[in-house]
Amino acid sequence: MKKYSANKIFTAKEVLEKSVVITDEEGKILAIDSIENHDRASIQFFEGAICPGFVNAHCHLELSYMRNRIARGSGLVQFVKDLLTIRNEKLNIIIQTIDEANEEMFRNGIVAVGDISNDDHSLLTKQKSKIFYHTFVEAYGFKPENAEQYFSDAKKVFLKASEMKLAASITPHAPYSVPPTLMNLIFEWKENHPEIFSIHNQETKAETKIFLDGTGDFKNLIDDFFKLNSAEVFHPTGKRSIEYLLQFLPKEKNALFVHNTFTTAEELKKTSEDFQNVFWCACPKANMYIENRLPDYNNWLQITDKVCIGTDSLASNNTLSILDEMKTIQSNFPEIKTETLINWATINGAKFLEIDSQFGSIEIGKQPGINLISDLNGDNSFSKNSAVRKII
Ligand SMILES: [Zn+2]
Repeated sequence: MKKYSANKIFTAKEVLEKSVVITDEEGKILAIDSIENHDRASIQFFEGAICPGFVNAHCHLELSYMRNRIARGSGLVQFVKDLLTIRNEKLNIIIQTIDEANEEMFRNGIVAVGDISNDDHSLLTKQKSKIFYHTFVEAYGFKPENAEQYFSDAKKVFLKASEMKLAASITPHAPYSVPPTLMNLIFEWKENHPEIFSIHNQETKAETKIFLDGTGDFKNLIDDFFKLNSAEVFHPTGKRSIEYLLQFLPKEKNALFVHNTFTTAEELKKTSEDFQNVFWCACPKANMYIENRLPDYNNWLQITDKVCIGTDSLASNNTLSILDEMKTIQSNFPEIKTETLINWATINGAKFLEIDSQFGSIEIGKQPGINLISDLNGDNSFSKNSAVRKII
Protein backbone atom coordinates (compact mmCIF):
# COMPACT_ATOMS: atom_id res chain seq x y z
CA MET A 1 0.00 0.00 0.00
CA LYS A 2 1.18 3.53 -0.76
CA LYS A 3 -0.08 6.89 0.50
CA TYR A 4 0.27 10.16 -1.38
CA SER A 5 -0.66 13.68 -0.40
CA ALA A 6 -0.04 17.26 -1.53
CA ASN A 7 -1.27 20.76 -0.71
CA LYS A 8 -4.10 20.25 -3.19
CA ILE A 9 -5.58 17.13 -4.78
CA PHE A 10 -7.46 17.66 -8.05
CA THR A 11 -9.47 14.46 -8.39
CA ALA A 12 -11.27 15.63 -11.59
CA LYS A 13 -14.44 15.77 -9.50
CA GLU A 14 -13.38 18.13 -6.73
CA VAL A 15 -10.39 19.82 -5.16
CA LEU A 16 -9.37 18.33 -1.83
CA GLU A 17 -7.04 19.60 0.87
CA LYS A 18 -5.68 17.77 3.90
CA SER A 19 -6.41 14.48 2.20
CA VAL A 20 -4.50 11.36 1.29
CA VAL A 21 -4.76 9.06 -1.74
CA ILE A 22 -4.10 5.41 -0.96
CA THR A 23 -3.09 3.04 -3.75
CA ASP A 24 -1.86 -0.52 -4.11
CA GLU A 25 1.63 -1.26 -5.45
CA GLU A 26 0.42 -0.96 -9.07
CA GLY A 27 -1.22 2.42 -8.51
CA LYS A 28 -4.84 1.33 -8.27
CA ILE A 29 -6.77 3.71 -6.02
CA LEU A 30 -7.93 1.94 -2.85
CA ALA A 31 -9.17 4.90 -0.82
CA ILE A 32 -9.22 8.67 -0.44
CA ASP A 33 -9.20 9.72 3.17
CA SER A 34 -8.61 12.60 5.56
CA ILE A 35 -4.94 13.04 6.33
CA GLU A 36 -5.74 13.19 10.06
CA ASN A 37 -6.46 9.45 10.10
CA HIS A 38 -2.93 8.53 9.03
CA ASP A 39 0.50 8.53 10.55
CA ARG A 40 2.45 11.33 8.80
CA ALA A 41 5.50 9.08 8.40
CA SER A 42 3.49 6.65 6.25
CA ILE A 43 2.59 9.36 3.69
CA GLN A 44 4.65 10.72 0.78
CA PHE A 45 3.83 14.41 0.87
CA PHE A 46 4.46 16.66 -2.14
CA GLU A 47 4.57 20.45 -2.37
CA GLY A 48 2.07 21.40 -5.08
CA ALA A 49 -1.03 19.72 -6.45
CA ILE A 50 -1.61 16.15 -7.51
CA CYS A 51 -4.00 15.22 -10.28
CA PRO A 52 -4.88 12.21 -12.46
CA GLY A 53 -2.68 11.23 -15.43
CA PHE A 54 -3.33 13.35 -18.52
CA VAL A 55 -5.21 12.21 -21.62
CA ASN A 56 -3.81 13.66 -24.84
CA ALA A 57 -6.90 13.53 -27.05
CA HIS A 58 -5.14 14.40 -30.31
CA CYS A 59 -1.64 13.58 -31.51
CA HIS A 60 0.13 12.31 -34.65
CA LEU A 61 3.11 10.31 -33.36
CA GLU A 62 4.20 9.43 -36.89
CA LEU A 63 4.97 13.10 -37.68
CA SER A 64 7.42 13.44 -34.76
CA TYR A 65 10.45 13.71 -37.07
CA MET A 66 9.09 17.06 -38.32
CA ARG A 67 9.86 18.91 -35.09
CA ASN A 68 11.16 22.40 -35.98
CA ARG A 69 11.00 21.68 -39.72
CA ILE A 70 7.90 23.70 -40.71
CA ALA A 71 7.76 27.50 -40.54
CA ARG A 72 5.35 29.04 -38.04
CA GLY A 73 2.37 31.24 -38.77
CA SER A 74 1.83 30.61 -42.47
CA GLY A 75 -1.71 29.27 -42.16
CA LEU A 76 -3.13 25.78 -42.57
CA VAL A 77 -3.04 25.53 -46.35
CA GLN A 78 0.65 26.45 -46.53
CA PHE A 79 1.28 24.14 -43.56
CA VAL A 80 -0.32 21.22 -45.43
CA LYS A 81 1.80 21.98 -48.51
CA ASP A 82 4.98 22.17 -46.40
CA LEU A 83 4.12 18.99 -44.56
CA LEU A 84 3.44 17.00 -47.72
CA THR A 85 6.60 18.36 -49.35
CA ILE A 86 8.85 17.18 -46.51
CA ARG A 87 6.88 14.01 -45.70
CA ASN A 88 9.80 11.82 -46.49
CA GLU A 89 12.49 10.64 -44.14
CA LYS A 90 14.57 7.55 -43.46
CA LEU A 91 12.52 4.93 -41.66
CA ASN A 92 15.01 4.59 -38.79
CA ILE A 93 14.71 8.33 -38.07
CA ILE A 94 10.94 8.18 -38.27
CA ILE A 95 10.85 5.28 -35.79
CA GLN A 96 13.44 6.79 -33.46
CA THR A 97 11.58 10.11 -33.21
CA ILE A 98 8.30 8.26 -32.61
CA ASP A 99 9.93 6.40 -29.70
CA GLU A 100 11.31 9.64 -28.29
CA ALA A 101 7.92 11.37 -28.59
CA ASN A 102 6.27 8.46 -26.77
CA GLU A 103 8.84 8.75 -23.97
CA GLU A 104 8.38 12.52 -23.82
CA MET A 105 4.64 12.10 -23.32
CA PHE A 106 5.23 9.48 -20.63
CA ARG A 107 7.58 11.80 -18.73
CA ASN A 108 5.02 14.60 -19.06
CA GLY A 109 2.41 12.56 -17.22
CA ILE A 110 0.33 11.51 -20.21
CA VAL A 111 -1.33 8.12 -19.66
CA ALA A 112 -3.57 7.84 -22.73
CA VAL A 113 -3.51 9.24 -26.27
CA GLY A 114 -5.87 9.46 -29.21
CA ASP A 115 -3.30 9.12 -31.97
CA ILE A 116 -3.76 9.63 -35.70
CA SER A 117 -2.16 7.17 -38.14
CA ASN A 118 -1.93 7.43 -41.91
CA ASP A 119 0.57 4.58 -42.04
CA ASP A 120 1.86 1.80 -39.78
CA HIS A 121 5.06 3.51 -38.57
CA SER A 122 3.91 4.19 -35.02
CA LEU A 123 2.08 0.92 -34.32
CA LEU A 124 4.93 -1.04 -32.73
CA THR A 125 5.83 1.83 -30.39
CA LYS A 126 2.19 2.08 -29.37
CA GLN A 127 1.97 -1.65 -28.74
CA LYS A 128 5.06 -1.65 -26.49
CA SER A 129 4.24 1.61 -24.71
CA LYS A 130 3.18 2.01 -21.09
CA ILE A 131 0.78 4.66 -22.41
CA PHE A 132 -2.68 3.55 -23.62
CA TYR A 133 -3.23 4.43 -27.29
CA HIS A 134 -6.34 4.56 -29.43
CA THR A 135 -5.27 4.67 -33.08
CA PHE A 136 -7.42 6.72 -35.44
CA VAL A 137 -6.72 5.67 -39.00
CA GLU A 138 -7.67 8.55 -41.25
CA ALA A 139 -9.36 7.95 -44.58
CA TYR A 140 -9.13 10.86 -47.03
CA GLY A 141 -8.66 11.83 -50.65
CA PHE A 142 -10.16 14.38 -53.02
CA LYS A 143 -11.41 12.26 -55.92
CA PRO A 144 -14.94 10.95 -55.25
CA GLU A 145 -14.50 8.10 -57.74
CA ASN A 146 -11.45 6.81 -55.81
CA ALA A 147 -13.30 6.47 -52.51
CA GLU A 148 -12.98 2.65 -52.48
CA GLN A 149 -9.22 2.93 -52.92
CA TYR A 150 -8.82 5.54 -50.16
CA PHE A 151 -10.90 3.41 -47.85
CA SER A 152 -8.99 0.25 -48.59
CA ASP A 153 -5.68 2.06 -47.87
CA ALA A 154 -7.04 3.03 -44.45
CA LYS A 155 -8.34 -0.49 -43.90
CA LYS A 156 -4.85 -1.97 -44.33
CA VAL A 157 -3.46 0.15 -41.48
CA PHE A 158 -6.57 -0.51 -39.39
CA LEU A 159 -6.27 -4.30 -39.81
CA LYS A 160 -2.61 -4.22 -38.83
CA ALA A 161 -3.42 -2.18 -35.70
CA SER A 162 -6.23 -4.62 -34.86
CA GLU A 163 -3.95 -7.62 -35.27
CA MET A 164 -1.58 -5.96 -32.83
CA LYS A 165 -4.48 -5.68 -30.36
CA LEU A 166 -4.49 -1.87 -30.45
CA ALA A 167 -7.77 -0.03 -29.98
CA ALA A 168 -8.44 1.42 -33.41
CA SER A 169 -10.99 3.03 -35.68
CA ILE A 170 -11.20 4.32 -39.23
CA THR A 171 -12.19 7.98 -39.23
CA PRO A 172 -12.63 10.86 -41.71
CA HIS A 173 -9.65 13.23 -41.85
CA ALA A 174 -11.64 16.47 -42.29
CA PRO A 175 -14.80 17.64 -44.06
CA TYR A 176 -12.89 19.18 -46.99
CA SER A 177 -10.80 16.07 -47.70
CA VAL A 178 -13.55 13.45 -47.57
CA PRO A 179 -16.13 13.35 -50.39
CA PRO A 180 -19.63 11.97 -49.66
CA THR A 181 -18.85 8.56 -51.22
CA LEU A 182 -15.96 8.14 -48.77
CA MET A 183 -17.95 9.49 -45.80
CA ASN A 184 -20.51 6.75 -46.45
CA LEU A 185 -17.90 3.99 -46.59
CA ILE A 186 -16.37 5.20 -43.31
CA PHE A 187 -19.60 5.40 -41.37
CA GLU A 188 -20.95 2.11 -42.77
CA TRP A 189 -17.84 0.29 -41.47
CA LYS A 190 -18.72 -1.46 -38.22
CA GLU A 191 -15.40 -3.05 -37.20
CA ASN A 192 -14.03 -0.09 -35.21
CA HIS A 193 -13.21 -0.98 -31.63
CA PRO A 194 -14.49 1.06 -29.96
CA GLU A 195 -16.66 2.84 -32.53
CA ILE A 196 -15.39 6.37 -32.01
CA PHE A 197 -14.26 9.06 -34.44
CA SER A 198 -11.81 11.96 -34.54
CA ILE A 199 -12.14 14.68 -37.20
CA HIS A 200 -10.16 17.86 -37.90
CA ASN A 201 -12.79 20.59 -37.91
CA GLN A 202 -12.85 24.24 -38.98
CA GLU A 203 -9.15 24.80 -38.44
CA THR A 204 -8.94 27.55 -41.04
CA LYS A 205 -11.16 30.13 -42.76
CA ALA A 206 -10.36 28.53 -46.12
CA GLU A 207 -12.39 25.47 -45.12
CA THR A 208 -15.52 27.59 -44.79
CA LYS A 209 -14.77 29.36 -48.05
CA ILE A 210 -14.49 26.30 -50.26
CA PHE A 211 -17.74 24.87 -48.89
CA LEU A 212 -19.59 28.14 -49.41
CA ASP A 213 -18.56 28.91 -53.00
CA GLY A 214 -15.72 26.63 -54.12
CA THR A 215 -13.06 29.35 -53.97
CA GLY A 216 -10.15 30.31 -51.73
CA ASP A 217 -6.91 28.72 -50.60
CA PHE A 218 -8.21 25.15 -50.61
CA LYS A 219 -9.31 25.51 -54.22
CA ASN A 220 -5.75 26.62 -55.03
CA LEU A 221 -4.34 23.70 -53.05
CA ILE A 222 -6.45 21.21 -55.01
CA ASP A 223 -5.75 22.82 -58.39
CA ASP A 224 -2.11 23.89 -58.08
CA PHE A 225 -0.63 21.54 -55.52
CA PHE A 226 -2.55 18.33 -56.14
CA LYS A 227 -2.98 19.13 -59.86
CA LEU A 228 -6.64 18.21 -59.82
CA ASN A 229 -9.55 20.19 -61.14
CA SER A 230 -11.31 21.47 -58.02
CA ALA A 231 -14.49 22.25 -59.97
CA GLU A 232 -14.68 18.57 -60.88
CA VAL A 233 -13.74 16.96 -57.56
CA PHE A 234 -15.16 19.39 -55.01
CA HIS A 235 -18.82 20.37 -54.95
CA PRO A 236 -19.52 23.38 -52.73
CA THR A 237 -22.63 22.98 -50.61
CA GLY A 238 -23.31 26.69 -50.07
CA LYS A 239 -23.25 25.90 -46.34
CA ARG A 240 -20.48 25.82 -43.77
CA SER A 241 -18.32 22.70 -43.52
CA ILE A 242 -19.66 21.54 -40.16
CA GLU A 243 -23.14 21.12 -41.66
CA TYR A 244 -21.72 18.85 -44.35
CA LEU A 245 -19.97 16.74 -41.72
CA LEU A 246 -23.00 16.44 -39.45
CA GLN A 247 -25.15 14.92 -42.22
CA PHE A 248 -23.03 11.78 -42.01
CA LEU A 249 -22.09 11.60 -38.34
CA PRO A 250 -23.92 8.94 -36.25
CA LYS A 251 -25.45 10.67 -33.23
CA GLU A 252 -24.97 7.78 -30.83
CA LYS A 253 -21.19 7.46 -31.28
CA ASN A 254 -18.46 9.52 -29.62
CA ALA A 255 -16.75 11.91 -31.98
CA LEU A 256 -13.93 14.37 -31.34
CA PHE A 257 -13.95 17.61 -33.33
CA VAL A 258 -10.38 18.85 -33.34
CA HIS A 259 -9.30 22.55 -33.43
CA ASN A 260 -12.66 24.32 -34.12
CA THR A 261 -10.83 27.63 -34.45
CA PHE A 262 -13.51 29.03 -36.78
CA THR A 263 -16.54 27.32 -35.24
CA THR A 264 -19.06 29.98 -34.23
CA ALA A 265 -20.69 30.03 -30.80
CA GLU A 266 -23.98 29.27 -32.54
CA GLU A 267 -22.53 26.21 -34.30
CA LEU A 268 -20.98 25.01 -31.08
CA LYS A 269 -24.28 25.35 -29.26
CA LYS A 270 -26.48 23.76 -31.90
CA THR A 271 -24.08 20.86 -32.51
CA SER A 272 -23.75 20.21 -28.78
CA GLU A 273 -27.53 20.09 -28.45
CA ASP A 274 -28.15 17.89 -31.49
CA PHE A 275 -25.09 15.64 -31.11
CA GLN A 276 -24.57 14.94 -27.44
CA ASN A 277 -21.61 12.63 -28.04
CA VAL A 278 -19.50 15.26 -29.79
CA PHE A 279 -16.41 16.30 -27.81
CA TRP A 280 -14.45 19.47 -28.70
CA CYS A 281 -10.67 19.25 -28.72
CA ALA A 282 -8.50 22.27 -27.95
CA CYS A 283 -4.98 22.21 -29.45
CA PRO A 284 -3.97 25.79 -28.60
CA LYS A 285 -0.23 25.55 -29.18
CA ALA A 286 -0.73 24.00 -32.62
CA ASN A 287 -3.28 26.70 -33.49
CA MET A 288 -0.80 29.38 -32.51
CA TYR A 289 1.93 27.62 -34.50
CA ILE A 290 -0.11 27.26 -37.69
CA GLU A 291 -2.73 30.02 -37.75
CA ASN A 292 -1.47 32.31 -34.97
CA ARG A 293 -4.99 32.40 -33.59
CA LEU A 294 -6.98 30.67 -30.85
CA PRO A 295 -10.62 29.66 -30.65
CA ASP A 296 -12.68 31.59 -28.09
CA TYR A 297 -12.41 29.10 -25.25
CA ASN A 298 -14.63 31.30 -23.09
CA ASN A 299 -17.46 30.43 -25.47
CA TRP A 300 -16.61 26.76 -25.18
CA LEU A 301 -16.66 27.02 -21.39
CA GLN A 302 -20.12 28.53 -21.41
CA ILE A 303 -21.63 26.21 -24.01
CA THR A 304 -20.26 22.71 -23.44
CA ASP A 305 -18.68 20.59 -20.74
CA LYS A 306 -17.26 18.18 -23.34
CA VAL A 307 -13.90 19.79 -23.97
CA CYS A 308 -10.70 17.76 -24.34
CA ILE A 309 -7.10 18.84 -24.85
CA GLY A 310 -4.61 17.63 -27.46
CA THR A 311 -1.04 18.48 -28.35
CA ASP A 312 -1.39 17.76 -32.08
CA SER A 313 1.91 16.65 -33.60
CA LEU A 314 5.51 17.79 -33.34
CA ALA A 315 5.10 19.13 -36.89
CA SER A 316 3.08 21.98 -35.35
CA ASN A 317 4.26 22.00 -31.75
CA ASN A 318 7.59 22.08 -29.95
CA THR A 319 6.45 19.99 -26.97
CA LEU A 320 4.06 17.12 -26.29
CA SER A 321 2.86 18.40 -22.95
CA ILE A 322 -0.72 18.75 -21.81
CA LEU A 323 0.46 21.07 -19.03
CA ASP A 324 1.93 23.42 -21.67
CA GLU A 325 -1.43 23.40 -23.49
CA MET A 326 -3.31 24.22 -20.26
CA LYS A 327 -0.88 27.04 -19.48
CA THR A 328 -1.38 28.47 -22.98
CA ILE A 329 -5.16 28.42 -22.58
CA GLN A 330 -5.04 30.02 -19.15
CA SER A 331 -2.55 32.73 -20.11
CA ASN A 332 -4.95 33.80 -22.90
CA PHE A 333 -8.16 33.14 -20.96
CA PRO A 334 -7.30 33.78 -17.28
CA GLU A 335 -10.92 33.30 -16.24
CA ILE A 336 -10.73 29.58 -17.05
CA LYS A 337 -9.82 27.91 -13.78
CA THR A 338 -7.15 25.27 -13.31
CA GLU A 339 -9.81 22.95 -11.92
CA THR A 340 -11.75 23.18 -15.19
CA LEU A 341 -8.63 22.71 -17.30
CA ILE A 342 -7.69 19.60 -15.31
CA ASN A 343 -11.11 18.15 -16.12
CA TRP A 344 -10.58 18.92 -19.82
CA ALA A 345 -7.14 17.30 -19.61
CA THR A 346 -8.18 14.13 -17.80
CA ILE A 347 -11.73 12.84 -17.35
CA ASN A 348 -13.16 14.35 -20.55
CA GLY A 349 -10.53 12.73 -22.77
CA ALA A 350 -11.00 9.44 -20.91
CA LYS A 351 -14.75 9.59 -21.52
CA PHE A 352 -14.26 10.37 -25.19
CA LEU A 353 -11.89 7.40 -25.61
CA GLU A 354 -14.25 5.22 -23.52
CA ILE A 355 -11.52 4.37 -21.03
CA ASP A 356 -12.95 6.23 -18.04
CA SER A 357 -13.44 3.03 -16.03
CA GLN A 358 -9.66 3.05 -15.58
CA PHE A 359 -8.40 6.55 -16.43
CA GLY A 360 -9.34 10.21 -16.00
CA SER A 361 -10.02 10.72 -12.30
CA ILE A 362 -8.73 9.86 -8.86
CA GLU A 363 -11.51 7.54 -7.80
CA ILE A 364 -11.60 4.23 -5.97
CA GLY A 365 -11.06 1.29 -8.33
CA LYS A 366 -9.35 3.29 -11.10
CA GLN A 367 -5.66 3.21 -12.00
CA PRO A 368 -5.40 6.68 -13.56
CA GLY A 369 -1.75 7.51 -12.96
CA ILE A 370 -0.92 10.43 -10.66
CA ASN A 371 0.90 13.64 -11.61
CA LEU A 372 2.41 16.33 -9.44
CA ILE A 373 2.05 19.93 -10.64
CA SER A 374 4.43 22.29 -8.89
CA ASP A 375 4.49 26.06 -8.43
CA LEU A 376 0.80 26.92 -8.67
CA ASN A 377 -0.15 30.43 -7.61
CA GLY A 378 -2.18 30.95 -4.42
CA ASP A 379 -5.45 31.00 -6.39
CA ASN A 380 -4.46 27.64 -8.01
CA SER A 381 -3.68 29.27 -11.36
CA PHE A 382 -0.55 28.12 -13.21
CA SER A 383 2.60 30.16 -12.82
CA LYS A 384 5.34 30.43 -15.44
CA ASN A 385 7.33 27.90 -13.43
CA SER A 386 4.56 25.33 -13.04
CA ALA A 387 5.93 21.96 -14.07
CA VAL A 388 4.60 18.42 -14.16
CA ARG A 389 6.18 15.29 -12.76
CA LYS A 390 4.76 11.81 -13.04
CA ILE A 391 4.50 10.22 -9.59
CA ILE A 392 2.82 6.97 -10.66
ZN1 LIG B 1 -4.11 16.93 -36.20
